[in-house]
Amino acid sequence: MTEALVHGAAARESVLLALADKIPELIAYYEARELRCVFANKGYAQANGCSAESIVGKTVREIVGEDAWRVIEPHAAQALRGEKAEYLRDLRLPGGEGRVIEVHLDPHLGGRGEVLGIFVLITDVTRHQLAEARIQYLAHHDMLTGLPNRAYVTERLSAILALARRHRSMAAVMSIDLDDFKAVNDTLGHHSGDTLLKLTASRIRQVLREADMVSRLGSDEFLVILADFSASDDAALVAEKMLQTISAPVVIEGRELRAQASIGVSVFPRDGDSAEELIARADIALHAAKAEGRGRSRFYAPGAIDATADALARESRLREALQRAEFVLYYQPQLCVADQRLVGVEALLRWRHPQRGLADPSEFIEFAETHGLIGEIGQYVLREACRQSKAWQDAGLAPLPIAVNVSAAQFQRRDLVAEVARVLEDTGLEGRWLELELTESMLLDKDVVGEALAGLRALGVRIAIDDFGTGYSSLSYLNQLPVDKLKIDRSFIDDLGVDADERAIAIAIINLAKTLKLTVLAEGVERQEQLEFLRAHGCDEYQGYLAGAPLAAEEFGAFVRG
Ligand code: C2E
Ligand code: MG
Ligand code: MG
Repeated sequence: MTEALVHGAAARESVLLALADKIPELIAYYEARELRCVFANKGYAQANGCSAESIVGKTVREIVGEDAWRVIEPHAAQALRGEKAEYLRDLRLPGGEGRVIEVHLDPHLGGRGEVLGIFVLITDVTRHQLAEARIQYLAHHDMLTGLPNRAYVTERLSAILALARRHRSMAAVMSIDLDDFKAVNDTLGHHSGDTLLKLTASRIRQVLREADMVSRLGSDEFLVILADFSASDDAALVAEKMLQTISAPVVIEGRELRAQASIGVSVFPRDGDSAEELIARADIALHAAKAEGRGRSRFYAPGAIDATADALARESRLREALQRAEFVLYYQPQLCVADQRLVGVEALLRWRHPQRGLADPSEFIEFAETHGLIGEIGQYVLREACRQSKAWQDAGLAPLPIAVNVSAAQFQRRDLVAEVARVLEDTGLEGRWLELELTESMLLDKDVVGEALAGLRALGVRIAIDDFGTGYSSLSYLNQLPVDKLKIDRSFIDDLGVDADERAIAIAIINLAKTLKLTVLAEGVERQEQLEFLRAHGCDEYQGYLAGAPLAAEEFGAFVRG
């Protein structure tokens, strides 16, 4: 150790030189006077058809040739003025393959600020760009209605607000939610549900003017932006007209239906200054409209936030449920598409309500999230899933990775990694048998996420992205995160047999997963034809009623034993 330090200078130089050849980036250094190469790593030299020795002493023009020099020259000039230059270049390799590289030219400054030379750093960003192009397609549109999605609309709203600020005019955000849409879906089937959504989208559009815009946020949620009007009465009129238009009777597959919606409205500048604030407040107003009995519109009113008696009662009932151990986990098998082997299991939460029977998470998870209860519930789920998985292993079942859903609030807690570590330790389950399911929106804050995921990875825990394709994916860095699996959302699997858009998206996600070397799993597979499609397109795994519905622990154990 001491010896290495004593012989430091020489040793360090040979280490640095070896290191320079090991990194994937291409690096070089040019002196400033004639732009002659002083140093290049092997990668840089080879990319320019030279060896690391023969490139030294040549000018950049000699090295790259006239055509490339014309592209580089203005950037080099900028670096010679002492400013950093950064640009992208498309390259075509001799075999015809296209690559995109990112070039950084960084001036090397002397003590008096004079430029001594230029550091060149080149990164291959092809993979990154491919992923981005694919995801742009997924990221900006809702495939069912063809309406723009949340990401796009938030961006546009910011632009509309900037304009309204300049014109001193008003703008409004309207959050629209169909009442009891779930009942339509459940009683008449998804197909009718989809038809109703498409129809509702076009009815909403009928009420709007050219400059306004509408997007679809979630299954039965729409967001409307009214650009530029003069008094809040205008917005109230539009909301009334919207309610009427949406609730006009329709006939779908021979049945007469009457949709009904609730609307929450927030107004710029009165209720907020930013897109996020206005959308959040329109949502609060929407909850108020729902609480008051649905089928109506409400404006945002400060203070009237949903601290209603009803919410309080639900909250204490959920706390009770935790204490009385009314939560249980159900387990759904995950199979290999190619050979039907059991490859995993997902734990899904149920509430065994003494009066109402088994309740699905859709009835209480969101409420638990917004009322600060998800932490405790999430802890229970994690611990119980790990305990059960270990118990199965101890009982002689072949070990299976167990997937646990993590909510946003749970993920944002600083101590998630520590909690997972503790649970693994307490239950004796090895980290490699645990997989956590996150959703795309949780991955937006890169700094926090990178650290948390690295911590989980260190425990051997795997990461899956749930409901993939429905969120605003910031995929530009998904390939930098230690993610193992993409789960294609059920909505893209539903109509695989008949809907060309869904097919295109499913294929795009499968290919994306391949590009990023991730496992890809299709959710909600109910029919053989869907499975055939997935097999034909190389999807790795699937989950759904075709393979098996979620089962209670004892039943799942029996299912595995066969
Ligand atoms: P998810 O994680 O995407 O789970 C898949 C959902 O699809 C489950 O609904 C499952 O029962 C359902 N499903 C599975 N196969 C099929 C199929 O072939 N057809 C149809 N139509 N549905 C199928 P579930 O159990 O009601 O869960 C809904 C969502 O609630 C989950 O979506 C997940 O986001 C959340 N959730 C469930 N358990 C937990 C939990 O323990 N913690 C948290 N934070 N969220 C949970
Ligand atoms: Mg899940
Ligand atoms: Mg899912």
